[in-house]
Amino acid sequence: MYTARLAALAAMALLSSVLLAPARGRNPEPAGKPLTPPASAGWDCLHRRLPRELAEKAAAAAVRENPENAIHIQNGSPRSAKGDALEPIPLGAVDEKGVISTGRKWLPGRTIRIKFLGGDPVVQRRVQATAMEWTHYANIKFQFVEPGEPADVRIAFQPGGSYSLVGTDCLTAPPDQQTMNFGWLTPGSDEPIYTSVVLHEFGHMLGLIHEHMHPSGQIKWNYQTAYAYYQRTQGWDPDMVQAQVLDVYYNSDADATKLVDAQSIMMYPIPEGLANIVVGWNTRLSATDKEFIGRHYYPPPGLKPTELVVGAAPVFGAVRGEQVAAYRFRVHEGGDYLVQISGLAVAVRLLAAGPRKMAEGESVQPKGRMTVGAKLEPGEYTLQVLRKDRGGQDSGQFRIAVRQAR
Ligand SMILES: [Zn+2]
Repeated sequence: MYTARLAALAAMALLSSVLLAPARGRNPEPAGKPLTPPASAGWDCLHRRLPRELAEKAAAAAVRENPENAIHIQNGSPRSAKGDALEPIPLGAVDEKGVISTGRKWLPGRTIRIKFLGGDPVVQRRVQATAMEWTHYANIKFQFVEPGEPADVRIAFQPGGSYSLVGTDCLTAPPDQQTMNFGWLTPGSDEPIYTSVVLHEFGHMLGLIHEHMHPSGQIKWNYQTAYAYYQRTQGWDPDMVQAQVLDVYYNSDADATKLVDAQSIMMYPIPEGLANIVVGWNTRLSATDKEFIGRHYYPPPGLKPTELVVGAAPVFGAVRGEQVAAYRFRVHEGGDYLVQISGLAVAVRLLAAGPRKMAEGESVQPKGRMTVGAKLEPGEYTLQVLRKDRGGQDSGQFRIAVRQAR
């Protein structure tokens, strides 16, 4: 109890330092980065949703694409259809009516076909080059195809706003219509103008929603100041400000990081005075963006699992934030096997090739030993370890071992 209390206090202290410190001081970007976008760049990105009459079709398409997008209710709380310990709510599972529909996550490993509907060739080339950065951190591929070919994602350049449908909703949009739009890019636009909007809209396309609407409610808005600001700069009435800026997602609507990530590419800029947090103009993927997308489109490229030997002494590992620690071991003799982890509260998943889930479990106590067991045939297996308290700022160290049960 005492430990839990201390941990909670530490987390709160951390939270206030994260939220109260001006983003200026914390931002890892080079000095001179503007706090607000230049006047030549837009930044607002409005929700784009399919027309309501397509919702049922979109839900069916989402589950066809990736069975994990289906949702079932367990003890009153929504879970992914796989009951996955590492992903309680599928990515993009947001429904504005407070009714859970489905996730909107593409099948990890798949190739998403993308084409341009018009636009300057230089702008097209720069959008393509910028967007590819996501594929360095997610197990997903982008293939840009010719105008006449079918494509899952269709990009237009109509002047005005920039937006994208969320995740697999793209599959249900009428095939002659765009699923993404860039309203203010020109061949000569500066690099940060490209990265800020292209990485943001491709984030939506992968299933990410707006960070400033994070369910934790850590952002406290000064309502009157915010209404006046968005009226003046965007021409939005209070209802629009409410829907686009002030509303938060329900916890049950979205899988989220523990803390608001002020550096996220999915975050709006928040000028001084509008809230208890100041957010600059984010133009790069944050460390958390990279880890979060790698966890959802697993395994991230380049991830090399650490080798474990069955029956050997426990080895030390560490996992921070949204990271996933990965291990691999080989079973030579069929039988019952136990994976034991101690020192950190974690969620663990044991996978056979395929990947096929063999077992999963979660620690009950913060530092207590937890064991996951499974009957295994000879072959190679991987283990994914994620910390339960993803906001925890300790070293995240744990010990892990695998042995045969007797
Ligand atoms: Zn957006």
